[in-house]
Amino acid sequence: MKTKTYLYNTLSNKVEEFVPNEEGKVKMYTCGPTVYHYAHIGNLRSYIMEDVLEKHLRFAGYDVKRVMNITDVGHLSSDGDTGEDKMLAGAKREHKTVMDIARYYTDAFFEDCRKLGIKRPDVVEPATNCIAEFIRMIETLLEKGYAYIAGENVYFDTSKLDNYYALSSQKEDELQVGVREDVEEDANKRNKTDFVLWFTKSKFDNQELKWDSPWGVGYPGWHIECSSIAIRHLGEYMDIHCGGVDNIFPHHTNEIAQSEAYLGHKWCNYWFHINHLNTTGGKMSKSKGEFLTVSLLQDKGYDPMAYRLFCLQSHYRKPLEFSYEALDNAATAYEKLIKRVKSVTDEGAVDETVVEKYKERFAEAVGNDINTSMGLTVLYEALKDEANGATRRAIVSALDEVLSLQLNRAWEETEEPEEDKELTTYVENMIAERAAAKKEKNFARADEIRELLKEKGIQVRDTHEGTVWERIC
Ligand code: AMP
Ligand code: ZN
Repeated sequence: MKTKTYLYNTLSNKVEEFVPNEEGKVKMYTCGPTVYHYAHIGNLRSYIMEDVLEKHLRFAGYDVKRVMNITDVGHLSSDGDTGEDKMLAGAKREHKTVMDIARYYTDAFFEDCRKLGIKRPDVVEPATNCIAEFIRMIETLLEKGYAYIAGENVYFDTSKLDNYYALSSQKEDELQVGVREDVEEDANKRNKTDFVLWFTKSKFDNQELKWDSPWGVGYPGWHIECSSIAIRHLGEYMDIHCGGVDNIFPHHTNEIAQSEAYLGHKWCNYWFHINHLNTTGGKMSKSKGEFLTVSLLQDKGYDPMAYRLFCLQSHYRKPLEFSYEALDNAATAYEKLIKRVKSVTDEGAVDETVVEKYKERFAEAVGNDINTSMGLTVLYEALKDEANGATRRAIVSALDEVLSLQLNRAWEETEEPEEDKELTTYVENMIAERAAAKKEKNFARADEIRELLKEKGIQVRDTHEGTVWERIC
């Protein structure tokens, strides 16, 4: 396929033709989750759109290597050097160790990704695996004069760079440091925008994770992990770096500062940022309003694919407002789409020319700055095409390599094997018994049945339309 891809680049504030450093190959980095809690569906909007970007590039013929970090240390609630350590707060909240919290929420994150059709990146690297490398990078920054030690911490000196604000186009005097009332300015910093590379004089007396370093026992700042992990796995030059728009400043700005100071040349050419999922109250966050997770949506009876479709219907650069009404519309659209796909028979022989034509049109639509709604339009047109069923099925399967809406499931065998039939009967009887128990207000029995089913790998959910069940694998 010879389709070109165009991407909006935050670095140039323009839509640009995407040209990788090495022909046919893409090196891509994604800021991973901070694993102190479940991901909310806003975080997952970012990961869905990054997934589409990766799959589109593969669809367009590139060989993609994608790396993601797992933040299990160093991320403070302010995204800068102030506030609480998110991991420590999570551990305290649940009376567990930081590493237990990290393991649990890393698994939960990938489980959410699986439900939403998000592919696991080729490399997933927890920050705590790479401390020795962070230390080496900080040592080099000190040697090169880009870092200094003050108050027993190591700081990056942003005044050593001419273009610190290249990505974020912020002016220094517009920057508000210490905007939160409970946050003080750090007197050790030479410039307001300087940031911590290594905390030795810990602000948290009870910091659980600490490592030895040339500057004493301590732990790394958040930003250094992404620079170091990206360079470790992708080398000195990278094509695309992704994240939500809140990452532009300070996180990505600081990543560029330290990576380019360390490498001595430009690091990454394209910066891809996804706008936020908002609620009526503003940006969705874990501490504000209803904590919207994929499991919560499932408990309310929504198919995770309805949420994926909801995200694909709008452009990643626009803020997206979440409401149950909007999600209901997407759920209805998804059901209709599955019905239409189901009605496509497999008659005839696949006409490869027609398939190719649609694949190119689709790649062109999505390649225009990841215009997923235009991509969906191409899918709907293919469903209406006069081509035979087999050809239309082949097109749907091909486009779903990028959309990942599990469209193939519409054609899956409906005839159940004998043992499945037995299980279905058992589950349905138990659900009926549970409904009766609930009616009699015997909630203990109802909960017991839910647990019994769970042990058999069955999850039940009470929805507006009644109780539904699914296998948990
Ligand atoms: P975190 O786990 O806080 O490090 O965030 C994980 C990812 O989610 C980052 O790329 C953030 O930029 C992104 N993100 C955070 N909040 C939202 C939101 N409301 N909508 C979309 N993306 C978000
Ligand atoms: Zn990052």
